[in-house]
Amino acid sequence: MSKQIITVIKGDGIGPSIVEAAIEVLDKVGCNFDYEYVDAGLTALEKTGELLPQATLDAIARNKITLKGPLTTPVGDGFTSINVTLRKKFNLYSNVRPVISFKGTKARYENIDIITIRENTEGMYSGHGQVVSADGMVAEATSIVTKDGARRIAEFAFETARREKRKKVTIVHKANILKSTSGLFLKTAREVASHYPDIEAQEMIVDNACMQLVMNPQQFDVIVTTNLFGDILSDLCAGLVGGLGMAPGANIGADCAIFEAVHGSAPDIAGKNLANPSSVILASIQMLEYLGMQDKAEKIRSALADVIATGDRTTRDLGGSFGTTDFTAAVLERL
Ligand code: NAD
Repeated sequence: MSKQIITVIKGDGIGPSIVEAAIEVLDKVGCNFDYEYVDAGLTALEKTGELLPQATLDAIARNKITLKGPLTTPVGDGFTSINVTLRKKFNLYSNVRPVISFKGTKARYENIDIITIRENTEGMYSGHGQVVSADGMVAEATSIVTKDGARRIAEFAFETARREKRKKVTIVHKANILKSTSGLFLKTAREVASHYPDIEAQEMIVDNACMQLVMNPQQFDVIVTTNLFGDILSDLCAGLVGGLGMAPGANIGADCAIFEAVHGSAPDIAGKNLANPSSVILASIQMLEYLGMQDKAEKIRSALADVIATGDRTTRDLGGSFGTTDFTAAVLERL
């Protein structure tokens, strides 16, 4: 059988250090992947004059599976977010963001196990129709939700819930106010839910969902929602389990997938050996599960859990005083 090739984008800022850590972990557990390294973001801009070179797009399309570090999107007019571009270009309509409590973090809660499934290509976040009037006094943007888009993400969420033996899917919306867009999303998700009688379907307005997540997060199991709400709620969920250093995300389409950390390139700590590599390691675990390599995924998860639980060489954000490389060494020793 030919070897699985993974496209790797190391990314900007803390990206290279945490992606290299994840690859060491994948190799140590015997994944036997080949890696094709390509650039995007600031690194690519400096080398090639483009944020997203064609060679990078070709590699993502060819290998189907990509592990990606965070990318810096330059601030200012004329720079569209690279992440949004990638999601649209490869039709990565589903963004799967699981958060799980690990013992030993400084998180406020224990026993959290929530998967946020965010529609990844439509709605307000897609950057559609953004204009500011010539006099700078009026700004507008367009939010488009389609029935097909809502159906496929709701189906993805209920299928995920069924496969992972989950009990409940919470449909988060704002249909009381955003009657057209959120209304269509809710109506369609309800229709999908009716085909899954084995899974409880709960509906919740987004502002209430925020409060409930803070007051009583253990009630949540799988959340499905539109693009912008999913962006915000998944960071809230990351905060429940110890912060952005613990939050991975998978962008999944019909035949292509990109695995990444939820956080950005953290320019404030870049180059200082301070970054927690856990979120990219957790994204690699998602990648292994996607590839059907559950045993290796579980092995890495328990090594990571043990390092955090015992506080053995953990990074600053986890309450320790060690660097990215020490933390990674502690994980590697357990594999
Ligand atoms: P950020 O996520 O990079 O950082 C927010 C805070 O969390 C910072 O204090 C940072 O030090 C900390 N942090 C993040 N990851 C950490 C880790 N692994 N270990 C320890 N601490 C960590 O958000 P930002 O500063 O708003 O954005 C910086 C850049 O990243 C921007 O250019 C933004 O566009 C980009 N960004 C990219 C992605 C992506 O590529 N998926 C996602 C979000 C932001």
